[in-house]
Amino acid sequence: MNKIKEVKERVDIIKVAQYLGINLNKANKCKCLWHEEKTASLSFSQSKQIFHCFGCGVGGDCITLVSKVLNINAYESAKLLNEVFSLGVDFGKRETSRLEVNRYIQEQKAIERFYKWHNETLQMLCDYLHSLNKFEKIQQQETIEYYIDLLIFGTEEDWLWFKKTEEGWCKEIEQKLDTRNIRGMSTL
Ligand SMILES: [Zn+2]
Repeated sequence: MNKIKEVKERVDIIKVAQYLGINLNKANKCKCLWHEEKTASLSFSQSKQIFHCFGCGVGGDCITLVSKVLNINAYESAKLLNEVFSLGVDFGKRETSRLEVNRYIQEQKAIERFYKWHNETLQMLCDYLHSLNKFEKIQQQETIEYYIDLLIFGTEEDWLWFKKTEEGWCKEIEQKLDTRNIRGMSTL
């Protein structure tokens, strides 16, 4: 197993957040560090060991968190956590290869793209819901509300399923919205 993954599995993201001086409330949320906001949308999940902002879409695991907050790379972040939390991962003899670091970064980018897609799609469906005319409401309102609920309350598996099966449908809505010219007008 590569060193970065080994570190990740031995440390708790909540403790990492505390170490970084991030003040979480009882629901493990705080105001986002990467966008201006009044409410706390940056959310930490102990069971999934990830963080995610529902406002700007930033997210990832404890390694990404350290990298983003301290502005260091994934390998340096893992090494730092190993030292700070005395995790006992041996970085000495065999350095994590550049290939491993690259693979890890690619994985993180895919996760970021996924959350970005999630935020944008949710916004798009809300915009579309508000733009429906009387006739469309009868036909489509229920479906759209169902998918909005799924994107808010569903699991990541639900979102992935939706992304895969309804890609064409989403594209159609996007095109309709572009002609109506109301993108980004509505809020949740
Ligand atoms: Zn944010």
